[in-house]
Amino acid sequence: MAKGKIKVQTENIFPIIKKFLYSDHEIFLRELIANATDATKKLHALSSLGEFKGEIGNDTIEIILDKSAKTLTVRDKGIGMSEEEIKKYINQIAFSGAEEFVNKFKDKTDTGNIIGKFGLGFYSSFMVAERVEILSKNYKDEPAAHWECDGSPEYSLKEAEKNERGTDIILHIAEDSTEFLEESRIKTLLEKYCKFMPVAIKFGTKTEYIDNAAGKKDKDGNIEKEAVQVDNIINNPTPAWTKAPSTLTDDDYKNFYRELYPFNFEESLFHIHLNVDYPFNLTGILYFPKIKPNMEVQKDKIQLYSRQVFITDSVEGIVPDFLTLLHGVIDSPDIPLNVSRSYLQSDGNVKKISSHITKKVADKLEELFKKDREDFEKKWDDIKIFIEYGMLSDEKFNERAQKFALYKTTDGKYLTLDELTEKIKPLQTDKDDKLVVLYTSDVETQHAYIQSAKDKGYEVIILDSPLSSHLVGRLEQQVEKSTFTRVDADTIEKLINKNEEIPSKLSDKEKEELKPVIEEVISKEKFTVQFESMNETDQPMTIVQPEFIRRMKEMSKMGGGGMFGAFPESYNLVVNVNHPLISKLLKEKDNNKQKEIAKQTADLALLSQNMLKGEELTKFIKRSIELI
Ligand code: ADP
Repeated sequence: MAKGKIKVQTENIFPIIKKFLYSDHEIFLRELIANATDATKKLHALSSLGEFKGEIGNDTIEIILDKSAKTLTVRDKGIGMSEEEIKKYINQIAFSGAEEFVNKFKDKTDTGNIIGKFGLGFYSSFMVAERVEILSKNYKDEPAAHWECDGSPEYSLKEAEKNERGTDIILHIAEDSTEFLEESRIKTLLEKYCKFMPVAIKFGTKTEYIDNAAGKKDKDGNIEKEAVQVDNIINNPTPAWTKAPSTLTDDDYKNFYRELYPFNFEESLFHIHLNVDYPFNLTGILYFPKIKPNMEVQKDKIQLYSRQVFITDSVEGIVPDFLTLLHGVIDSPDIPLNVSRSYLQSDGNVKKISSHITKKVADKLEELFKKDREDFEKKWDDIKIFIEYGMLSDEKFNERAQKFALYKTTDGKYLTLDELTEKIKPLQTDKDDKLVVLYTSDVETQHAYIQSAKDKGYEVIILDSPLSSHLVGRLEQQVEKSTFTRVDADTIEKLINKNEEIPSKLSDKEKEELKPVIEEVISKEKFTVQFESMNETDQPMTIVQPEFIRRMKEMSKMGGGGMFGAFPESYNLVVNVNHPLISKLLKEKDNNKQKEIAKQTADLALLSQNMLKGEELTKFIKRSIELI
């Protein structure tokens, strides 16, 4: 038996690694199974090259838990290792990787910065084991080898008895890690990290009911079922994303969605199959989920894999921000296993991946739009939040989105920006040759304003998402000589000013006389009285909020503070001087009565905007009843 000392500079790397990786001990299992998978795939490769001529046989990897012996074993039937190979691959490669890691990180005090996941390979087993054994026999049928080490640089290596090809990694679980002797814990880990690894992985057995072998029938003539114990295979070695899109049906994609998120009972809206091999390797399937208002945003996330080995589900930096709400998987061998946030953001490959995904998503949306516009329109309300976010945050995406981004009108029509501007040009161009695009943020509360716009034959588009106020600014820059204005920003004649003046029934002097009467019944800090000559049939008084003021307030609300945040709420009270009620108000000689009419009319305007509240509302109701 050989006893040796692993050549490492740092005397005792074990405690250091253990400390650094404290929160991520569980990855040891992923690392060991990934090695087992590699060893198995290498054997297949050698076999197809004719280097290995034997039978591969059943190549299932086994995870064996022995609670009484306090061991956890990962067994593969891959290429295996001889004594010499263990010396080379484990003593040198595995340990030098560990040493490199320690040297890199031992001076750093901020362990929080060290990565979610750091692939340390074989050595990570010492995070949970006080002793590790390797029992291995290689595919060349050289004598089997046994290696044993307690994490210190000392190890033992000797010839051993083993007839089957492959490797057992036997972990003697440490006292502080007994959680890894719990079946349920291991099961959870296998589900998290190994669900789609490319070689079948067995964890115990399970009961299945099959037709009984003798063909015995029950009294109804059905073949009786009998219980049999079968291997409990915890993974799907050939998940949908690894297959060619042409071989998959819609149902296959739906089923894979279910497989990925067993606890999500919603269907997705559509999927995008990613398949790139140049300039980097990337496969994956992204799903557009149905967004519900109370959706637990963080629950189902995009999962990142490297050759079918789960890495992480925090994909910030890899997937553009506006797509992080999508579901699905991305698999790229070009994304390093040892992923750190800061590393990812500076990595050139990762940046390319991000812009490629954006491009693919835009392509797919355009394709869906062109192929079946009706269906696309049906999905629009669900997907618009992604698209609007993308348009605002990514210039390139914004350009491409012009082809498929839709604007919904209050009549339920969906138009692209080009279609919309073409359509409204004849009617909604004002005296200064500006195109005025009218929008509403709330069809219910702005109903009266929408109605007066419609009466004039104007289109009103609905921009009611949280991003709308930003989007409006962007669209204005995009559409030449245009202004976007909310329907309640002014009277409709003022919003689209065509110089069609309606003669005023009141003289300037009469307006001057009326002003203090109205000002007496409203809050002067909040409202500015604005006289307008409108149609007799228009409302006597209306409340509007100038577009500029409202946008500034919305922006400061989102951005937090800013000079406009401190601005008081301010509105215009528009008085229609041509309305008979206003003439009546002017002519009323009894001061008390005049005040009452003014108050009642102003309150009605407030009421229609849902702005009459509390004591004022109570008084209004009382007054109205008395009037009746
Ligand atoms: P990595 O897998 O990143 O190369 P590891 O420390 O995990 O680093 O493993 C070091 C080497 O040991 C591997 O490259 C491989 O050659 C060998 N090895 C590890 N596990 C096995 C195994 N189950 N079967 C055969 N060889 C293995």
